[in-house]
Amino acid sequence: MFGLNPAFIPGPTNIPDRLRAAMNVQTLDHRAPDFVSVFAPVLADLKKVFRTESGETFVFPASGTGGWEAAITNTLSPGDKVLVARYGMFSHRWIDMCQRHGLDVQVLECEWGSGAPADRFAEALAADSAQDIRAVLVTHNETATGVVSDVAAVRAAIDSADHPAMLFVDCVSSLGSMDFRMDDWGVDIAIAGSQKGFMLAAGAAILAASPRALEATERAGLKRCYFDFRDMRAANASGGFPYTPPLNLIFGLRESLAMLFEEGLDNVFARHHRLATGVRKAVDAWGLSLVAKSPELQSDSVSAIYVPEGFDSNALTDHAYERYGVSFGIGLGEMNGKAFRIGHLGALSDVMVLSGLATIEMAMKDLRYPIELGAGVAAAQEHFRNSTAAAIQAAA
Ligand SMILES: *Cc1c(COP(=O)(O)O)cnc(C)c1O
Repeated sequence: MFGLNPAFIPGPTNIPDRLRAAMNVQTLDHRAPDFVSVFAPVLADLKKVFRTESGETFVFPASGTGGWEAAITNTLSPGDKVLVARYGMFSHRWIDMCQRHGLDVQVLECEWGSGAPADRFAEALAADSAQDIRAVLVTHNETATGVVSDVAAVRAAIDSADHPAMLFVDCVSSLGSMDFRMDDWGVDIAIAGSQKGFMLAAGAAILAASPRALEATERAGLKRCYFDFRDMRAANASGGFPYTPPLNLIFGLRESLAMLFEEGLDNVFARHHRLATGVRKAVDAWGLSLVAKSPELQSDSVSAIYVPEGFDSNALTDHAYERYGVSFGIGLGEMNGKAFRIGHLGALSDVMVLSGLATIEMAMKDLRYPIELGAGVAAAQEHFRNSTAAAIQAAA
């Protein structure tokens, strides 16, 4: 009725009023000089979020999936070999895209709930004595399972095998919510989107490419046109776009970057960690378990939670929506029916998270889950009371 219920899906995320207002702009001639002054700082500031100095940033009108396509078609040729691990729905879909583009995809099957297997990547790269593998593809934050992977360890695996493969990372559901370091981790292409950590509507694929990746563009034989880095770079160099830019999103991005920098990226990450820890304390208190197999794999932007044996997670998310008007993430792929997800990224505060936990508790109780009403909320409250005070003191 009021349109105020936050969504607890892991993207698209809640859009703060400040960003909705920023996206509400009258048409502007994107060929007029004014556009340059809006867009050029956006591209420059995005580098700070990717934490890259040597890389170049791109904004394409697309969702994150388009960003995957831009990454592979700009750098690879038909038949090129890529190494990928499948450990959730998003890594699965990126693999499928690579196969449909005629790449030779070496897939390492991993149990869902685990992360990028740096040791197995090292073995596969060491075994590739002809150095045919052109790129290693990693989903930094597997949104389907709530698992964050150690990208630095993957880079170390590539280096330990003395292998020239490029490293492409999907950071759609981690950039702007969790620590991401393109240059430090030796990432060649990083792919994000407007609708998660940037708190905007979907519609912009946001990428950063290293000098090596940009060089590969010159030789890449896969067909591309709309997503060609060369056309975009040429147009961006003079402050323009090769076609009509998504103006509203670019205005939104400018404001979203301002919000992230005002809070401070490290504080943004600390807030996400605090919110995620509160959710994890609630999960513990309910006696449920996360899909993520071990603590270091637990994502700070989304938690995937197994429902008890004999329950259907789809019935739970349907009920929460129908009875209380609040959306939670369904179980994707192998997790369908078995797990639901709480998205805790973007524009969220402690009290908003508490409302989500209270809602899913009511839904679970309605469906006779063996939980005690208030148990999870109380566990999260206790964490937020203590950690918020500590955060405020640290800032004082
Ligand atoms: C959301 C998401 C994507 C992109 O999905 P789109 O719907 O195309 O924006 C890609 N990878 C991950 C890990 C995601 O969470």
